[in-house]
Parts: sequence; structure tokens; C-alpha cells
Amino acid sequence: MSENLDPFTIARTQLSDACKIANYDSEIYNALSEPERFVQIKITMKMDDGSIKTFQGFRSQYNSARGPMKGGIRWHPEESASLVKALSAWMTWKTACVDIPLGGAKGGIICDPRKMSEREIETLARSYIRRIADFIGPHIDVPAPDVYTNPQIMAYMMDEYETIVRRHASSVITGKPLPLGGSAGRSIATAQGGIYTIREAAKDIGLNLNGAKVAVQGYGNAGFWAAKILQNEFNCNIIAVSDSRGAILDNDGIDAQQAADHKSKTRSVIGLNGTKQISNEELLELECDILVPAALENVITNKNANNINCKIVAELANGPTTPDADKILFEKGIDVIPDFLCNAGGVTVSYFEMVQGYYRYFWTEKEVFEALDRVMTRAYRSTVEQAKKFNTHNRMGAYIISLERVVEAMKLRGWL
Ligand code: GLU
Repeated sequence: MSENLDPFTIARTQLSDACKIANYDSEIYNALSEPERFVQIKITMKMDDGSIKTFQGFRSQYNSARGPMKGGIRWHPEESASLVKALSAWMTWKTACVDIPLGGAKGGIICDPRKMSEREIETLARSYIRRIADFIGPHIDVPAPDVYTNPQIMAYMMDEYETIVRRHASSVITGKPLPLGGSAGRSIATAQGGIYTIREAAKDIGLNLNGAKVAVQGYGNAGFWAAKILQNEFNCNIIAVSDSRGAILDNDGIDAQQAADHKSKTRSVIGLNGTKQISNEELLELECDILVPAALENVITNKNANNINCKIVAELANGPTTPDADKILFEKGIDVIPDFLCNAGGVTVSYFEMVQGYYRYFWTEKEVFEALDRVMTRAYRSTVEQAKKFNTHNRMGAYIISLERVVEAMKLRGWL
């Protein structure tokens, strides 16, 4: 039977399942099943070739009970209102799961920055901020990078916001370049945080990371850094990596840096010397120890979950596994480190960036990663503990802690 793959439907199914397990009534579900505010905007601009284009954008502000809302901005041709809402819900559970004092939000523009010039990118970034400036701010909602956005785009956005408010307000955006108040370690943080959770999960199942076989689906910022750190620091064997054009396999091991260099030269990992080309679907079903989905949503569904052949699924992507697939993986005894736990390193270091920005004193990378390790390890331990207590999978374990924290804050404020 085919599953409903609409992202916001999936986010709400997960929430409803968690409310049932944790015994919350339907009013709690209703209070948490829509964003507090959803802003839809339109940007019309001149392109370099003289043509005029109109882009649609969104900012979904899901929940602010625990603090200023927080979440990235994705620029992608397949962006949609439903996806942005789902991602903003997951940001709410993410900040609560790692227990940082922030709410959840997400933004997006339907566009393909890979086909745009630097000038067009800057114009789009500044226009987006002009449209949403009334709704964001260092103490309201703080955007950050996500799929196909980067520190340079954050710099344009921060500058536009500061021009509008006529003062410095660098903590309105995180993931900024270092000279503009970025945090050491921010660009590696999503992968680094995920690796702390992989280290803990490996300990729990008695998996020796030395020589462990790893397949990484998606070779953007998170996927590349995960492969590189697992290879360099834990001596893992990276047997396969992929990008949107396809995947490569070498059972003797792929050099993570060489794959990245090849991708920056040719725009794809495909064709790296000594590797065999396979499809993204085949990569997901490879026999390995750790599978790292690090690209987009809905890649492990009820169609392929039965064929997943690894010990740990470490979800660096947001939303890679559907609810039906979760049940199948749980029955197969595969240990899933759920997205809003596994990839929370990015937002956690964003939070550190906000803190450093407030008092204008900056930490070393070592200090950032020590603090990140403490946050991620604690969140991993409480997730696993809840999952055991309720005899459910780790995603529900993570939902249960996150819900408890958000509901408590809403009750204390008198919202519930
Ligand atoms: N976009 C990242 C995420 O999905 C980071 C968000 C942030 O730093 O605010 O978690």
C-alpha cells in the first residue's frame, strides 16, 4: 500500500502517535498541530539576462513557548508550504529535545540557487528579509542556513536586516561567516553533533567504529563532514557516498576528501577513480554498519524499509524516514537515531552563536565542541531512556521528551 508522503501530514501523524503514547488529550494535539504564524511572501526581481522572475517564499513560526523561534531557510525547487510547516514543527521538537531555550521555525524559497548568479542570489536574499523583517528579530525568530543556503547568504540577510532596523543586530541570523559574528565550528556542527550520537549508539550496541562500514546518502555540508570525521577520527570505512546525480561504491573504502574534491571539480561524486557507480536507491540498501541519510526527506519508506541492511541509521537529513518505515525498522531491530536528535548539532551551535553574539565574546572551536558533546550526549541518553520506558522506537522516545518540555512551557505561560 502506498503511504501518504506529504511532509506536514507525516509530522502530524508522528505528533498524534506521540500524544497517544504519552497520554495527552486531543486539545494538546490541537494546540500543537499548526504553526503559531505562517507567512507567505512573493518576490519579483530582475534577473541578469533582463528577464523578470517571481519567486514564492515562506516562513513558518511553529512554537515560541520555550524562547525565540529558530530554524533554517531552504532554497530548493521542490520547496512547499507543507514542507516548511513540517520542518518548523521538527525544529520545535529539535530545540526541545536538546533542551536549548528556543522555539521552532523554518523558512523557504522555491528556487534553484545552483542556476543563479551571485548578484541574483544576493538580491533574492535581501528581498526575502525585507518581506519578513517585521516578523523576525534576535528575540523573536532567528533564521539560519539549510539546504542550498550558506554563510554568505546569511551575511546578506543580516546586513539587510540591520539596514532596516538601523542598528547592529547580528543575533538575528546564525550560521554567519566568522568575521561577522559567526561561531567557530558552526559549519561542521550538524555532522559533529550527529557523530557524538553515533558514538553513543555504537557503544550501546557494541559496534566497534574502527573499520565499521558506512554509507552516506547525500554529500552536501552535513554528509561530507560526517564522512570525513568518521574516517579521520574513528577510522570508519566509507564504502559509499552519493549526491543528487547518483552514488559511488568501493568496498575497500572511499577517501572522503577525494570524493569532495571530485565533486567540486565535476559537480558530482560520480566517476571518482576506482569506484563503481550505483543508484541512490541501491546505496540505501547496501549491507553496512551505519547508514547516514544526509540529503532530503522521504528516502526510507514502506517500499524499501524491509531491505535496509545496517545496524544504525543516523539521520542527518530532516524527515528521511516515514512513519510506516519507522515501524518496520523497529521490528527489524535497526537502531535509528532520529533526525531531530541526530542533526541537532547545527541548531545547538547556532544557539551558542546567539549567546556569543549577545555578549560579544567568542569561544574557541574546542570550547564549542566540548559544550556540543555534553548537549548531544545528554539528549541521546534521555531519548533512549524514554524509548525503553515506553517500549517504542527512538523517534517516539525523542518526541515524548520534547513534547513534555514544550507542553510544560505552554502550561507555565497559561496557554494550556
Ligand atoms: N537548518 C538547520 C536545522 O535543520 C539549523 C537550524 C538553525 O541553526 O537554526 O536544524
